[in-house]
Amino acid sequence: MAKIYYENSVATDALTGKKIAVIGYGSQGHAHAQNLQDTGHEVVIGIREGDSADKARADGFEVLSVAEATKQSDVVMILLPDENQGSVYEAEIKPNLKAGDALVFAHGFNIHFDVIEPPADVDVFLVAPKGPGHLVRRTFVEGAAVPALFAVYQDATGNARDLALSYAKGIGATRAGVLETTFKEETETDLFGEQAVLCGGVTRLIQAGFETLVEAGYQPEVAYFEVLHEMKLIVDLMYEGGMGKMRHSISNTAEYGDYVSGPRVVTEDAKTAMGEVLADIQNGTFAKAFTADNANGFPEFKAMREKQKGHQIEAVGATLREMMPFVNPKN
Ligand code: NDP
Ligand code: MG
Ligand code: MG
Repeated sequence: MAKIYYENSVATDALTGKKIAVIGYGSQGHAHAQNLQDTGHEVVIGIREGDSADKARADGFEVLSVAEATKQSDVVMILLPDENQGSVYEAEIKPNLKAGDALVFAHGFNIHFDVIEPPADVDVFLVAPKGPGHLVRRTFVEGAAVPALFAVYQDATGNARDLALSYAKGIGATRAGVLETTFKEETETDLFGEQAVLCGGVTRLIQAGFETLVEAGYQPEVAYFEVLHEMKLIVDLMYEGGMGKMRHSISNTAEYGDYVSGPRVVTEDAKTAMGEVLADIQNGTFAKAFTADNANGFPEFKAMREKQKGHQIEAVGATLREMMPFVNPKN
């Protein structure tokens, strides 16, 4: 059984009195900065000028260059896009780190794949919320939290583990549960989860279901409600009570169909493909492809993004969501 840390199990407050630079003010950055400030910590934002910098200022934060924020702080949390972390680290963070500082990540990618090689005299750890940044903030405000993983890669001060736990508590994650992991485990499982199941798996499953219904002559709006909109309602039940609660709530017809047809769609072949996806993550093939496409200005990434935007389900959904203000549509 994994050891899980909750509010009461984090006795120390190793982060107290330390100045924290949150580098980046995007999905994770705004959430970490605001939650840490609300739990009583001193936070500055390190970022380039632009939309995020303006937003951080509007939210009341002191905004500095990445170099200056690093220089002034004891704990430097890097919340830039993974593909930009290496260059910004080399140019602005590395020259301004001092012995005993802590270099922190929310995902192990750049350390695990050796893009960033930190000096030996700083602590290096990660605190990775297991959920989107906007929910890290929203759940915190509601008194809840998104769970998180933490891992220590380098303990220069002897204090890295306490600091990591204290940081996790500072963003509220100990309300939900915090698990210790390694950079390898966090990086590989995070990439696998988002590719095979959460993002890649689910979107392709929904699209394939939508296409099957529409190609068979059913109305696209009916197909949208059936395979996309209702997904959330089903997932919410699993979130609350596992598959058991979901299966208890659906009709016996649906539950019987679940058992007989699920394995016909997500077959052993799909599981074999998942194994191949995992192998590409473990042996660095995925990281290499992502890094190479980024080096060229992301031509492959941008082409795939455009193609996906054009899928019929997106246009159908945009129209339907306009009529459902309660879903808070953001088209
Ligand atoms: P976002 O893309 O949402 O935000 C990135 C931020 O970095 C923006 O504020 C952006 O500002 C700024 N930025 C980008 N390039 C530079 C640069 N060259 N110099 C200075 N600032 C720059 O990132 P995420 O929050 O999605 O990801 C941050 C980290 O968190 C990643 O390691 C990711 O894997 C991890 N993570 C993300 C999750 C998520 O929910 N998104 C979940 C768990 C972990 P600007 O407006 O100027 O572009
Ligand atoms: Mg991820
Ligand atoms: Mg149904």
